[in-house]
Amino acid sequence: MSEGGAAKPDGALETSLSVFGAKPSLALVSVTRSSPGERFARAAKGAGIFWAFAAGCVFLPGLHFVLVPTFLLVDAVAGMRHLRDIEVVSRVHGACPRCGHEQDFATGNRLTSTWSLDCPTCHKTLTLVLSPTKASAA
Ligand SMILES: [Zn+2]
Repeated sequence: MSEGGAAKPDGALETSLSVFGAKPSLALVSVTRSSPGERFARAAKGAGIFWAFAAGCVFLPGLHFVLVPTFLLVDAVAGMRHLRDIEVVSRVHGACPRCGHEQDFATGNRLTSTWSLDCPTCHKTLTLVLSPTKASAA
């Protein structure tokens, strides 16, 4: 009900891109809701990397007692983390507040209220905040 002007008709969310020492700019974030099959595929891909490290560490004498259980534990945590990614950011488009270059930013992370992005043009770390109108009204 209190979505107000935060949601665009095409499903994109209005967000704020900010960097220290510059005026925040508007960015549009598109979100994809993934099916259970897509989430399982992402979880298997994320966990498979650590499973491969664990399998490779079996052949290290002495160290395998520590590294194999550690990588298997990290493997399980990474898999569970990706299984919970119901809403995934599919597109972030906006102008960098520092250099002003309008572009698409790297995506693929879970939808959270705030996260960091890198501007490929000026190489500054930008902070993206969802629904800036709600944050400033509170
Ligand atoms: Zn920039």
